[in-house]
Amino acid sequence: MPVVDFHNHYYPPEYLQAIQSGPSNVRVTFDADQNPVLHYPGDYNIAVRGHRDIAFRETVLEAAGVTTQVLSLTTPGTHVEEPARAAALARIVNDALAVVAGRSGRFTALATLPLNDPAASAKELERGLTTLGLRGAMLFGNVNGTALSDQRYWPLYEVANAHQAVLFIHPTFPVGVEAMMDYGLMPLLGFTFDTTLAAAKLVFSGVVERFPRIRWVLAHLGGTIPYLAERLDRGFRAFKEARKDISRPPSTYLKTFFYDTVNFDPGALRLAIDFAGADHVLAGSDYPHQIGSLERMLESISELGLPARDREGILGGNAKRLLGL
Ligand SMILES: [Zn+2]
Repeated sequence: MPVVDFHNHYYPPEYLQAIQSGPSNVRVTFDADQNPVLHYPGDYNIAVRGHRDIAFRETVLEAAGVTTQVLSLTTPGTHVEEPARAAALARIVNDALAVVAGRSGRFTALATLPLNDPAASAKELERGLTTLGLRGAMLFGNVNGTALSDQRYWPLYEVANAHQAVLFIHPTFPVGVEAMMDYGLMPLLGFTFDTTLAAAKLVFSGVVERFPRIRWVLAHLGGTIPYLAERLDRGFRAFKEARKDISRPPSTYLKTFFYDTVNFDPGALRLAIDFAGADHVLAGSDYPHQIGSLERMLESISELGLPARDREGILGGNAKRLLGL
């Protein structure tokens, strides 16, 4: 049975080289094992071997029984750089991702975009989808504090809508991050709040209604969306301002989204399946981050005891259909 891991991360060596040799707001140091450590406002990431060595990664996937990974960059993204540098780095990342995606059936990829320059982002998405043959793009949940629902991003959504592109909303450090800087709570909670807020604002602002051909995917099982959707609908009925920009209850749009399984609690997975349907749930691992796991991705889906058709869809069939693999 083909297994497609929709949510995992890769730093192309070309990108790591570029942020060390050229201007960058990301500071790179090395840990005791000579892994690059990327430092940026609010967080850091250790680029372990799986993050940057594609041949090594192929052997890991082979051993784990994962057929294909949909690669995406991860935090800090290119939007923490000066706009011109962000656009240059996004091109470096996407050119490298396209080479890896063309290397074997093991990988495909989502583009990264210089989100602090919306016009350059629209142009780079078009290039990624056409010239490079990428399947869509990963967007961060907020862009240096600006919401994805902001009208400055509508030209980007016009391009995505025209191509029926996949847009994967992945969190970054949220607004209000200073309240969650201890105990590792920023990635544990802050990330899920960032995704939740981004998805809710994309729906309530009417962006999802206005650009109906975009296929939206939410990271980490949608943050808290499946759990809170009923409350959003209640707010839609109770508050006039919640109905200002949309014609239907928010859950009707949110049920059209796809949700990756990077919440390895079978109870939480069941809730998301009940909410959006088994055909809208995509296996994801967050490999090779410290709190990601290829093994838990596979075990938690297996623990659901689903009918074979649903299980096959979540493990890979849904992602294959979504991405045209
Ligand atoms: Zn991730």
